[in-house]
Amino acid sequence: MTRTFNFSAGPSTLPEAVLLQAQQEMLDWQGSGMSVMEMSHRGKQFMSIAAELESNLRALMNIPKNYRVLFLQGGASAQFSFIPQNLLGSKTKACYVKTGTWSKKAFKDAKPYCEALVSASSKHSYFTTIPKVATWEIESTAAYLHYVSNETIHGVEFNATPDVQGLPLVCDMSSNILSRPIDVSEFGLIYAGSQKNMGAAGVTVVIVREDLLGQCSKNVPPVFNYEEQANNQSMLNTPTTYSWYLMGLVLKWLQSQGGLEVMEQRNIAKSAKLYQVIDASALYRNSVEIASRSRMNVPFILTNEALETEFLTAAEAAGLNELKGHRLVGGMRASIYNAMPESGVDALISFMQEFERTH
Ligand SMILES: *Cc1c(COP(=O)(O)O)cnc(C)c1O
Repeated sequence: MTRTFNFSAGPSTLPEAVLLQAQQEMLDWQGSGMSVMEMSHRGKQFMSIAAELESNLRALMNIPKNYRVLFLQGGASAQFSFIPQNLLGSKTKACYVKTGTWSKKAFKDAKPYCEALVSASSKHSYFTTIPKVATWEIESTAAYLHYVSNETIHGVEFNATPDVQGLPLVCDMSSNILSRPIDVSEFGLIYAGSQKNMGAAGVTVVIVREDLLGQCSKNVPPVFNYEEQANNQSMLNTPTTYSWYLMGLVLKWLQSQGGLEVMEQRNIAKSAKLYQVIDASALYRNSVEIASRSRMNVPFILTNEALETEFLTAAEAAGLNELKGHRLVGGMRASIYNAMPESGVDALISFMQEFERTH
């Protein structure tokens, strides 16, 4: 068996310890005689997996009691449409900050349901910056302000939670949740798909402040009504049970590593050394302003574009996979989430330096 270093943006690499435990428990979960995949979601075994999943997420992220934690389907993409429908209530406006592809998509998908206002945009810099919060146009009658804490495609990340003058803050954390400690109480709603930094594809975590529930539009299917799902332990329909279980294993792995403070230190170290090599090189370039560079997704181009295919082929031969950038922006991208070990980043750096030396 050979495992490569997998730099995919999502679905992405998982901790090897998690995969091994899943393998061990595949046929018989903890003496139950069943695979988790075969269990009734109402049975006592799966109920214990579900309860532990929520309590471990609450502990890791220090989620206050007045927040509900939902495990839904449809990905972050479905929430782009269901957030306005759940949160607008009697209001008509919502604020959006555009910092890249995902926040543009969230804005576009909200438009059928509300008067979506652009509070700020970094389009002028080709999404290589984060507009200064002091310049944002915040509409005080809006139901919420939406932003994306890490733009997975452009490699742009907020390094602090913006202060939005009391509006409920709604954040798509799909690609940097659990990568650093955050103060959940600063947010109205946090959401994230599982397949980048929390596990396999199939679960969308929604963490929502209780007082924002209860104003969902009547047109929303009950399975996407946050209050209904909160009242039914996210089991209004059959959940993606195996994905819940895998997320539970990832959370336990995070705890065993020392939690989010330790993750943050590792993520700073891993990303800093990769950016350093890119900045010191004549062949590689990252054009994101330094203060807004992502610790999770590191896009870079080859200044000699003609070498791209050769770079990717040679990288694969060296056991470094999925380095091709997103089709919208081209170039390369190394996604280095929690589960990417430092040895993977070291291997990538050695490869890049050797490639530059020989070309
Ligand atoms: C991947 C991603 C999404 C889309 O996730 P789906 O699960 O495919 O809906 C949304 N937002 C961000 C920031 C992402 O990285």
